[in-house]
Amino acid sequence: MHSFIYEPLPSRVIFGSGTRARIGEEIDRLGLRRVLVISTLPQRAVAELLATSLGTRVAAVFAEATMHTPVDVTERAMAQVTALSVDGTVAVGGGSTIGLGKAIALRTDLPQLVLPTTYAGSEMTPILGETKDGHKTTQRNAKILPETVIYDVDLTLTLPPALSAASGINAIAHAVEALYARDRNPIISLMADDGIASLGRALPKIMDDPADRSARSDALYGAWLCGACLGAVGMALHHKLCHTLGGTFDLPHAETHTAVLPHAMAYNAAAAPDAMSHIARSLGTQDAARGVYDLAGRLGAKRALRDLGMPEDGIDLAADLASQSPYPNPRPIARGAIRDLIARAWAGSLPVEP
Ligand code: NAD
Repeated sequence: MHSFIYEPLPSRVIFGSGTRARIGEEIDRLGLRRVLVISTLPQRAVAELLATSLGTRVAAVFAEATMHTPVDVTERAMAQVTALSVDGTVAVGGGSTIGLGKAIALRTDLPQLVLPTTYAGSEMTPILGETKDGHKTTQRNAKILPETVIYDVDLTLTLPPALSAASGINAIAHAVEALYARDRNPIISLMADDGIASLGRALPKIMDDPADRSARSDALYGAWLCGACLGAVGMALHHKLCHTLGGTFDLPHAETHTAVLPHAMAYNAAAAPDAMSHIARSLGTQDAARGVYDLAGRLGAKRALRDLGMPEDGIDLAADLASQSPYPNPRPIARGAIRDLIARAWAGSLPVEP
């Protein structure tokens, strides 16, 4: 076994069905008296319901969370935090909502309680991406990690099947890159294996019946494990590509991960054979990259970047941007092969080593 460092991140996790009923006692446990409940506009009703159940512990509901955490939205939320003497936040939603709670914590160090409703995994990471003037910057800071995460399977039952599929493969991507991360360790690798296997089993069942509580539970459990992978070790080519493509062409987050992942895996396959055999075993397939590509197909997910709105003449620009600054990856970054990879992801072709 190679030498490693393992540093657990301090967060309290409550998992189950109906667990949102425990949010009041968790707020009290942190000694909070005036929390701001955060959501996106489409999830405002969920946030309002939660706020009503919390009574006087809630200072206000702020339902303006937006994808990629724009700084102007954070500034509006911060005005409420100050005006209402808010002493903590409760984020109910996916990565966009959780991002706003994190942005407030970065500026104030206020405690965060999070009820995740997608599989993106942001709740388990000390990472925040913020957007200002169309430019996204990402940072890592201990203040950003949420204190308490309440996974309530019931809150995920409304996640539309198409978004469940893309969000689930977005989660798998964290585990895939954790298995070949330069700073990988055996505990996180165990979580990665089980996270991929849980999501691989659950997602097809969710497509057949989005209200299947047992499959939803397995998927959310897998998402937790995959989120922990993202929080613990460094990501590589796949996340770099998705960050670049999403930012440059304004592509949807989870769907971009779904289209790119099989191709990023094919690029790295020969340089990370051990990780690939773990992934293939977890998915019950012969070939890891093909296994993810087939899973996306079985889920009816979009597998081509062109179907997400990326222009064909953007392939060269994306290849330039993704090859510019060096970053850790099992296989060295070569511009020509990266271009091939992006071209295949753009077309939605079968993944082959470029
Ligand atoms: P999202 O939070 O943007 O949600 C997508 C849409 O689905 C929103 O309209 C939301 O209201 C709705 N929705 C969410 N859950 C629902 C549910 N259960 N039922 C019905 N509708 C629901 O999507 P996401 O993929 O979770 O998050 C993407 C964002 O999170 C990106 O900005 C990404 O960069 C960020 N992210 C950050 C990290 C991190 O560690 N910092 C990790 C993953 C994602």
